[in-house]
Amino acid sequence: MIELEGLTKRYGDKMAVNNLTCTVRPGIVTGFLGPNGAGKSTTMRMILGLDRPTAGDVRIDGKHYDQLKDPLTYIGALLEAKAWHPGRSAHNHLLCLAQSNGIPNSRVREVLDAVGLTAVAKKKTKGFSMMGMGQRLGIAGALLGDPRILMFDEPVNGLDPEGIHWIRNLMKSLAAQGRTVFVSSHLMSEMALTADHLVVIGQGRLLADTSMPEFIARNSRAYVRIRTPQRERLLDVLQQAGITAVQNGNGTLEVEGGKAEQIGELAARHQVVLHELSPQQASLEEAFMQLTAESVEYHAHAEAPPQERAQAQQQQWGADWRRS
Ligand code: ADP
Ligand code: MG
Repeated sequence: MIELEGLTKRYGDKMAVNNLTCTVRPGIVTGFLGPNGAGKSTTMRMILGLDRPTAGDVRIDGKHYDQLKDPLTYIGALLEAKAWHPGRSAHNHLLCLAQSNGIPNSRVREVLDAVGLTAVAKKKTKGFSMMGMGQRLGIAGALLGDPRILMFDEPVNGLDPEGIHWIRNLMKSLAAQGRTVFVSSHLMSEMALTADHLVVIGQGRLLADTSMPEFIARNSRAYVRIRTPQRERLLDVLQQAGITAVQNGNGTLEVEGGKAEQIGELAARHQVVLHELSPQQASLEEAFMQLTAESVEYHAHAEAPPQERAQAQQQQWGADWRRS
């Protein structure tokens, strides 16, 4: 479990992380979502004690990072910066890491196997392609201490589809083993496929802390897309049935809600030709963009206490989205 309480980091007059309170729980994948510059990496560095909070607190299973004995056995992390010596092999890199962290040497073989690097383990890492192999080595390092908590900062950046698929499955299986998995991304589409729970931040502030199904239910907008060579005729028919259609720039019509069958039957009854009648789901990416774009407005709540402010933000966000 990772607990953030009023976690704040200021660089000069830049608030990188602003009063973040949330709990990252075991047994599920928690997605840490926010646009570039939202404060994800800064938060993760503070969790690992690599950056000192300006205010607030962060605890790993109830302790601060520097209170953990052999920290790699509690929490393993893949951060953005590549932290290995290019002249060293993957095997030697992991061996050094194991020996300086009280981890048995036998773990090195196991994690190399787990990330699929066994075949190249004795090669110098400077020959590693930036994509894929470097990430796999970083993940091997995170897994080395067999920790109960794992944290990955934008792990799929720059990976090929096979690598992305592999990382997704790895995260899910780590969570299924009861571990705490905290993974950041700036891509909603990626999170939708991986995360069970979402913590969304924008400009350092908490915007949402919700289960993935709840996020989807709250944000998915169903509509029907229609193409017809008899647009005016169809608009009349729909209007008579009390159905409002919106015309799009690309020549299609859009009707809110899931009324495809009703529209199809009306069209058939009035002999209107349809070239397309397709139920659509607005993308979660749109919901995410909307949510984070509005984060600027939340400065209005700056005077409220942190807990109330977070709730106000979430309610505000829900209301905004329901209205739109
Ligand atoms: P994310 O990982 O979500 O993209 P970051 O945590 O890297 O966001 O950055 C959050 C904000 O803090 C950004 O505006 C970034 O420019 C700023 N920032 C991050 N690290 C530093 C630093 N060492 N010095 C000054 N500003 C920083
Ligand atoms: Mg980052």
